[in-house]
Amino acid sequence: MNAELISVGSELLLGQIVNTNAAFLSQELAIIGVNVFYQTTVGDNDKRLTESLKQAISRSDLIIITGGLGPTKDDLTKEAVASLAGTKLVHHEKSLHNIESYFKKRNRQMSDNNRKQALVIEGSRVLNNEYGMAPGMIVSIDGTSIVLLPGPPQEMKPMFLNELLPELSKMLGEQTSITSRVLRFFDIGESQLETDLLDLIEAQTNPTIAPLASEGEVTLRLTVKHASVAEQKRLLDETEERITNRVGQYLYGYNDTSLMEQLFLQLKEKRCTIATAESFTGGKFSSMLTSFSGVSSVFRGGCVSYATDVKENVLGVSKEVVTKFGVISKQCALEMASCAQQQYDADVAISFTGVAGPDKQEGKEAGTVYIGIAGLSQEPFCYELNLAGRREAVRDRAIKYGCFYLLNE
Ligand code: ATP
Ligand code: MG
Repeated sequence: MNAELISVGSELLLGQIVNTNAAFLSQELAIIGVNVFYQTTVGDNDKRLTESLKQAISRSDLIIITGGLGPTKDDLTKEAVASLAGTKLVHHEKSLHNIESYFKKRNRQMSDNNRKQALVIEGSRVLNNEYGMAPGMIVSIDGTSIVLLPGPPQEMKPMFLNELLPELSKMLGEQTSITSRVLRFFDIGESQLETDLLDLIEAQTNPTIAPLASEGEVTLRLTVKHASVAEQKRLLDETEERITNRVGQYLYGYNDTSLMEQLFLQLKEKRCTIATAESFTGGKFSSMLTSFSGVSSVFRGGCVSYATDVKENVLGVSKEVVTKFGVISKQCALEMASCAQQQYDADVAISFTGVAGPDKQEGKEAGTVYIGIAGLSQEPFCYELNLAGRREAVRDRAIKYGCFYLLNE
């Protein structure tokens, strides 16, 4: 099956937004074995969109269009497709109902414009929009399937994954269903992971293995095609085992679970309480941890000991350590963690001290980080890191490392 993508929106042509929809769709289609041969970007212009569509219909089996399904004048995708199909737009009751309840929930008045969003191309298969108002559609023109998806990625992605993907596997003519499992890794770069698994990634066809990197983490998406759910699970487990035999020490979780959420879940499961002593992270670790409901069963509290005298007088770090080694030191991190563990009566405590930058401190370079952990083994221990990046990136990465170290102890 040969596919192509048409991204509609003048803001894409003006460079005001990046075309992440096309990147997402190309990756997802590659995983299920659909070749994407062209990507076209076209402005909010009826004539040029129609031209692009005609050309696409002449050469592709599947066209996926994103954008231009909204209620405003410049949204003209469905009008252009209907006119090419020689059909009209008709009201779709279920979509109108969806839009009405969308407004009701938000206590807002619905306009006639919004009613326009419940218009669909006559004879099309309608795709439900769980996260917005404009429904998606699938129509067929001259043997080419044309899919219309909304522009906003937060609406487009779930519609693709939940509504279109099952349709596509039917279109691919196989009585199979497709499932993915995402493995999440930390403390290993994308290229290292790919190098370690290269032969597996290249040889693997079912499930396929697709690496993806973002925000200092790498994920592997395993996508399996099989009619039986039990067999899908067996195939995924088998491939996961091959992967973890090589790089298992970097695997921390699955699917959408972040490092912090994984840590929360693990602490909860082990009934282990935690306290914090944060310097350059300014309380961010504690703040992120407390974003999960039910965290009161594990989080005891923490001290944002930013100034040196607060480290000494409030947290209880000894003057001797501060004078002898400085606050940007392994010794200070160890004491911070031990003090927090005792003061907050927690099973384990974590401390962060370091240089977020951009300037040096105590002669130490920006990115120098010490993470202390007390309570997990007999002696408190400390990790030293040299992190690259700007201030916020150093703080965020240090927090991720903190979670990762706690998870692995
Ligand atoms: P709306 O109902 O929000 O108007 P729409 O289906 O009409 O949705 P557009 O008006 O084309 O979609 O785009 C709405 C917004 O969605 C854009 O401003 C942009 O933020 C995002 N968007 C659209 N197309 C893309 C794309 N290809 N990649 C990333 N983001 C996109
Ligand atoms: Mg729009």
